Amino acid sequence: MGATLEALLALREIELQIAEIRRQLAAKERSVARQTEKLRAAEHTLEAGRADLKHTQVAADAADLDLKARDAHVARLRDTLNTVRTNKEYAAIMSQLNNEKADRTRQETRALELLGEVETKRKAVAEQEALVKEESQRLGNIKAQLEQSLASFSARLSALEQQRDAAASRLDGKVLDLFNRLSDRYEGEVMARVVQVHPRRQEFICDGCNMSLSAERANALLTRDEVQTCGSCGRILFMDKSR
Ligand SMILES: [Zn+2]
Repeated sequence: MGATLEALLALREIELQIAEIRRQLAAKERSVARQTEKLRAAEHTLEAGRADLKHTQVAADAADLDLKARDAHVARLRDTLNTVRTNKEYAAIMSQLNNEKADRTRQETRALELLGEVETKRKAVAEQEALVKEESQRLGNIKAQLEQSLASFSARLSALEQQRDAAASRLDGKVLDLFNRLSDRYEGEVMARVVQVHPRRQEFICDGCNMSLSAERANALLTRDEVQTCGSCGRILFMDKSR
């Protein structure tokens, strides 16, 4: 294999390692973003739950006040009952008293229902608070992992970037341009191996796209140090020395 192809393969190897590190970092960044979203949703649910609890609590307090007012009214009616002089007055007060007692019973049921609701909602809010805390801790952990990866990868990345620059400086400007264009297009998979389909037949395919290649082109790779690209996918072709 010629020096140009060897330099290209070295460059590809470095580019693939850089791309792999970037992929891992991007995956961690995505999981930070996902967890941030999850925490935000849990906080929204908590806020809504707190508002609802407050609303129910206000209604329960109002029902309790109403009950107290009715109790006072019943007491006043009872006092009045002791002071009436006629049967007619007595009957009228009794009727009011019975009505008020019936209303009070209904109000008491409602007040108890509201107290039950307050209890249920308070429990739900407490559970949601625990969930928010959990999601927040999880986010903290994922962020710490990302920070750790950034720290441990940064030395590796700058070493690789230096190696890449060194490998690139061994290449002709035109070849490097071609490499960079292909690298953008194929996410680092710039090179394609030439595969001999059958050991005894002069048939070759490009490993990048599986299209056939002429024997002349394959043989040129073995004999000359020049860049050959696949006619179908455009990748830079190379042949293993072992083949
Ligand atoms: Zn190809």
